[in-house]
Amino acid sequence: MNESKNRIADHGQKPCLCGSGKLYAECCQPFHLKQQYPLTAEQLMRSRYVAYALHLESYLLDTWAETSRPANIEFENGLSWQGLQILKTQKGRKKDKQGWVTFRALYQVGLNQESMTEISRFIRDANQNWVYLEGQFI
Ligand SMILES: [Zn+2]
Repeated sequence: MNESKNRIADHGQKPCLCGSGKLYAECCQPFHLKQQYPLTAEQLMRSRYVAYALHLESYLLDTWAETSRPANIEFENGLSWQGLQILKTQKGRKKDKQGWVTFRALYQVGLNQESMTEISRFIRDANQNWVYLEGQFI
């Protein structure tokens, strides 16, 4: 827990790993610190990608719908996330109740550069905050 707090703090003045072009402190960090909640499904998607990159397990579980949430998250050793591209968003805006985000995530395992493309579906939890429901590889 404290280790993940340090990783959040250490990245503050670096470009956000979600690729927004903003500093982490002005992008996904306030979500990881629970100072703000994402207003759109895309913001949640971006912040969850960065949470995978920084191994923020509790943030990932907290932003996972109760009905599909795993007990814990295993971060693969030797896998590093290299970049995120948002390909398409459907609904998921401030006033929507659900939304879909299609993205490609780039990662490296050993010397191999790989990528995955997924459509993630997001819904609202009991507090009306966006949570991740499920994903489908495409
Ligand atoms: Zn970000």
